[in-house]
Order: sequence, then structure tokens, then C-alpha cells
Amino acid sequence: MMNQEFDVLIVGAGLWGCVVARELAEAGNRVLILEARSLPGGNARSQRHPQTGIECHCYGAHIFHTSDKRVWEYINRFVHFNDYRHTVLTTHEGKVYFMPLGLALINAFYGTALRPSEVPAFIAEEVRRAGLTGEPRNLEEQAISLVGRPLYEAFIKGYTQKQWNTPPKDLPAFIIRRLPVRTDYNVGYFSDTWQGIPAEGYFGLFERLLDHPGITLRCNTDYLALRDTFPADLPVFYSGPIDAFFGYRHGPLPWRGLRFEWETRDERDYQGTAVMNYADADVPYTRIHEFKHFHPESRLPYESDKTVICREFPADWKPGDIPYYPVNTDASAALLAKYQADAAACPNVVFGGRLGEYRYYDMDKVIARALDQVHAWMDKVK
Ligand code: UDP
Repeated sequence: MMNQEFDVLIVGAGLWGCVVARELAEAGNRVLILEARSLPGGNARSQRHPQTGIECHCYGAHIFHTSDKRVWEYINRFVHFNDYRHTVLTTHEGKVYFMPLGLALINAFYGTALRPSEVPAFIAEEVRRAGLTGEPRNLEEQAISLVGRPLYEAFIKGYTQKQWNTPPKDLPAFIIRRLPVRTDYNVGYFSDTWQGIPAEGYFGLFERLLDHPGITLRCNTDYLALRDTFPADLPVFYSGPIDAFFGYRHGPLPWRGLRFEWETRDERDYQGTAVMNYADADVPYTRIHEFKHFHPESRLPYESDKTVICREFPADWKPGDIPYYPVNTDASAALLAKYQADAAACPNVVFGGRLGEYRYYDMDKVIARALDQVHAWMDKVK
């Protein structure tokens, strides 16, 4: 490999790697970015469905949302966003509900007509009945303390058990705090200031981030198999799995996997919305994505008599499978601490992204972190 031509090596062309590459290249560095897959974009990659033109998210739906002005302005340099507003519906025992834990769901579930001011006392009574006191120590207690046991059992318990294959009592409370809990009829899934889907598609986003003369992308290239061929003093920004970097020497960090079943259907609209969740444990998938609904501005695919759907099945994971969700338990935290100590002893390597930090990052947090890390590094080497 022509290693002397490059100032910095980046491993992984996901969102983190592409933002880091762009920043380094704009600062005048010659950047080589290696990607194990055949295309950039990591698990946020999308492709246009050949028959219908519909943008399909290859590894599950990605909706960009942020309240971070710096991140919003940054990403808008590369793509325009449509005005898609994410809503999630969920099916439970044959009935459909709006998912955000809010007034629409509460009133539909209980057959009540509560007003916003009545919700806190109603939930407080449910929590009292559940016998919970003190700070919630895990996902189950957190969920019950937010919405009470009946709503937890209907909409969270089964979904979470499927999603994580871990008892909700053994999962951290923060996972459920991702979901908004509201006392009004706002059924938006996110409470952020800005959201949308790149009108140019996620494929367009990655193409544009990497479109800089200082960036060389090499796909189908496994860094770990080649690392001895690089000079030891070449700075590396690494966004592969942190445990793989160290040869899994303390054992593999646990991930949750996914499996997707795709279907092109001869009908205009399968489910009337982009994402339908399935709350019940006896339905083997957690949700169905219907991608045409992410682009209401794009008349052509929207009006097509075909539609593309994808069923998402949680799956067990082993090293070598695609990692999707870090399984944050006490045991994995202890393991991660060992790898973090190893990483701290590698002054030439910056670890980042969902895999490199083993963190359940959203896309906006990945961008913020990438900008912080790469600028801290540039300030240091200046
Ligand atoms: N969740 C749930 N029921 C739902 C949707 C989500 O119990 O209908 C829980 C589940 O534990 C999930 C977590 O909330 O892992 C976070 O959901 P989110 O939609 O943010 O997950 P992502 O889109 O990142 O997979």
C-alpha cells in the first residue's frame, strides 16, 4: 500500500469516519479511509430500489433528528432535508396505537378521555399501585415509573424482551428514556428542534461528505488484516469494534444483531406509515418499515403502485456478525472498561463511533463527537 502518501488513516467509512475524514481533509491533511464493506455509509447506508426508485435504508430506518445547532448546520452543508416528521405506531393485541407514551395512547388504551392536567395523578396512582419507590434502577423500573405497569406490560415489556433478549430488569434505564413521555396529543416520536431525511438520500450524504480531493476511499479492505503494513507512527482514527482492535483479548463485547426480510409488494400503500411497531412478544419481528413514506416530497415513488417493506427481526449476535446495538449491562461495562484502558495506552489511535466507543449513539451524537474528537486531535498536533 502506498502508505507514505497519507498523513492520517481512518478505519471505517460510517458517519463518524466520513465526518472525521472531511474535517481532516479540509484542514489540509491527505486522508486514507478504509472500509471493509463494498460501499461507505456504515449502517446508515441507503440505496435506491431499482424497480421503484424508493430510497431504502439497508440496515433499518434512520431518521435524522437533533437539537444541536452546530450539528444541524454542519450536515446541512452537504444535503438538504425534507420535512418528514417521524411518527411511530404500534400494534398490540390487534389494535393500533400512536406510540409515543402520551395522551393519544393512554386514552385509547384505557378507553378514557383524560386531559393533560389529569395525566400526572393518573400515572402516579399507577406507579403507587406497582409498589415502586426510590430511583429506578433498571429499564423495567424506569418504564413503570414513567407510565405505570399496564402500559409497560402492553407496549414495552414484550418489545424490549424481543429487541434485547435480556430481561428488562437487567437493562439500563437510559434505553427507555430515549422514548418521549408526554401529557398531550403530540404524536411526534422525537422532541428535537430539527429532523428530516436527506432529500438526496443517505447515499447522497456519504457521497458528498467524501467528495474532497484530500480523501481517498478504499472499500473491501480489512484494516485489521493489514495493520502491520502501515507505519507505526501513522495516526489512526478507528471506528471498527474496539474489542476486535485488541483481538478480543478480554472476550467479545456483547451486541444485539438484526435480520431483515425485504418484500416488494404490488400495492400502493402497505401500512400507511413509515414504521409500525409490533409490541407483542408472540410476533417475531419488532417493526415493519415502509420506505416510501420517508419521502413525502418525492411524488414519483410515492405514487408508484409498488411499495417496498422490510420486517425487522432482532437476532442473536456473535463476533463476525453485523453489530447493531451494544448490550449495556453491568457485565459489558466491566469488559468495556478493560478495553478502554487498552485504548488509553494507544496514543496514536482515536477510537470513535458506535463500534469504536461501544455506545448506543444516534447519528447527531456521532457527528458531534466526531467533530469534537477530530478538532481536539488537530489542536494537539498543531
Ligand atoms: N421500545 C419499546 N416499545 C416500542 C418502542 C421502543 O419498548 O414500541 C423500547 C425498547 O426497549 C427499545 C427502546 O425503547 O430498545 C428504544 O427504542 P427506539 O425506538 O429509540 O430504538 P431504535 O430506533 O434505536 O431501535
